[in-house]
Amino acid sequence: MTKEKDLECSFCGRKKVETDLLIAGIEAHICDKCIEQAHGIVREEISESKTNTLSSELILKKPKEIKAFLDQYIIGQDQTKKSMSVAVYNHYKRLLQTKDENDVEIEKSNIILVGETGTGKTLVAKTIAKMLNVPFAIVDATVLTQAGYVGEDVESILSRLLQASDYDVAKAERGIVFIDEIDKIARKGDNPSITRDVSGEGVQQALLKLLEGAQVNVAPKGGRKHPDQKFIEVDTKNILFIAGGAFSGIQRTISKRLNMQAVGFSASIEEDKIDEDNLLQYIIPADLKEFGLIPEIIGRLPVLSYMNPLDAITLRSILTEPKNSIIKQYTKLFGMDDVEFIIDNEALDYIVEKAVEYKLGARGLRSLCEAILTDAMFELPSTEEREFKVTKEYAAAKLTNSTLKKLRAAS
Ligand code: ADP
Repeated sequence: MTKEKDLECSFCGRKKVETDLLIAGIEAHICDKCIEQAHGIVREEISESKTNTLSSELILKKPKEIKAFLDQYIIGQDQTKKSMSVAVYNHYKRLLQTKDENDVEIEKSNIILVGETGTGKTLVAKTIAKMLNVPFAIVDATVLTQAGYVGEDVESILSRLLQASDYDVAKAERGIVFIDEIDKIARKGDNPSITRDVSGEGVQQALLKLLEGAQVNVAPKGGRKHPDQKFIEVDTKNILFIAGGAFSGIQRTISKRLNMQAVGFSASIEEDKIDEDNLLQYIIPADLKEFGLIPEIIGRLPVLSYMNPLDAITLRSILTEPKNSIIKQYTKLFGMDDVEFIIDNEALDYIVEKAVEYKLGARGLRSLCEAILTDAMFELPSTEEREFKVTKEYAAAKLTNSTLKKLRAAS
């Protein structure tokens, strides 16, 4: 039998005295150094196979499939769904491009969505993230400030993404960030030299490097307020950024530009009649510049798309058609108490009518339903009722004028 002092690592041959720890197996020994090395190899292999799985998943989604997925959740907005599907598909391709090739490098296809509030900008971004099964973070551009000023610095965007991915850095680095209200950090006034404002242009400048792709040191949670926290390095190269904003008043810029073009090319506008009710469909990057986004930011958000305003027909579809539509959700909730929930068409039309009349938009549909159904959701679970039917009369009785006014004030 081998003496204690003659024991050695069966992998590297080190004697017991040369190791900090020698672990015995059935017929072999392994030292701490070999364990560490083996552990490193295992980790590397696992992360490589994860990347490969991700790659093979990525190949599967073609633009038409991406759009079909979006169609399940988002009503209308076809142009945006199409542009997003292509942008996301190209983003996949970019992730899959081989590194050692020294030919054409595909650039990031970050996206900017312009449309009134409540038209589904966040929903589109969220749905894409759901489809890809990647972490998703929403940040509000209005809370961001240039480093050194009160508020959150732009790196906090990545802290959110890290939180959303349970601090798995590799996962976060393939996530999606939705930057809401990007229009609120527009440069104010036309003359940048006079009105150079820190809150707007400074934040845009700070955002640039994130959008383009950079190694950024991120404080895990609290930003500058917790300077003792260890920084985590996050590479933003493969993070897809989707920015959204209402850009209210940009229609005037678009209209002015279109009219000026019309003077120059009077023959062509006779053929292409301008749809004055939905000018956003004609938006081009120059309009964003005119609004106050700096050209570098616009350049780093190369895919520009718009959201159509929601008309009554769209609102009606939003109530019932999406895979997790509001009405389907209530049906499920009542179903869990063994109550069959039935709402007739007149009642649905009535809800839409009120949403339009009080300008509550798509978000208001849920508040209206809540106002109509809360009493029943309170009462029914304690009764023997197995059916709950909502008619227009029932809905009207629950929606008093004061409730409607309150909803309008809150919207
Ligand atoms: P935005 O980001 O443009 O302000 P949201 O994406 O937050 O708007 O939309 C608010 C809510 O309205 C969503 O949660 C969704 O329920 C509904 N909604 C808006 N537009 C649509 C749409 N086109 N299809 C389905 N639901 C929509």
